[in-house]
Amino acid sequence: MRIEYDRDTCIGMFQCVAEWDGFEADEDAGKAILVDGEEQAENTVVREVPDDAELDAKFAARACPVDAIAVYDDGERVIP
Ligand code: SF4
Repeated sequence: MRIEYDRDTCIGMFQCVAEWDGFEADEDAGKAILVDGEEQAENTVVREVPDDAELDAKFAARACPVDAIAVYDDGERVIP
């Protein structure tokens, strides 16, 4: 499973941080940080999600009020 985080869209509400420790809060920037993420394009960060973190990562994506987090399973977008 792969997660894609759009830093541009993020409004820093940090619901994702509460759901999964793969996200951390950058209070100064008012943006989330996708831990161990790779910059894929400008302001887009991606990473693979370990099997044992899939549920939490999905909760994080669903919790985001502005859909800044997308989840892909086998190349298919499953959230949002
Ligand atoms: S829940 Fe969404 S808007 Fe809030 S910090 Fe996380 S990515 Fe940003």
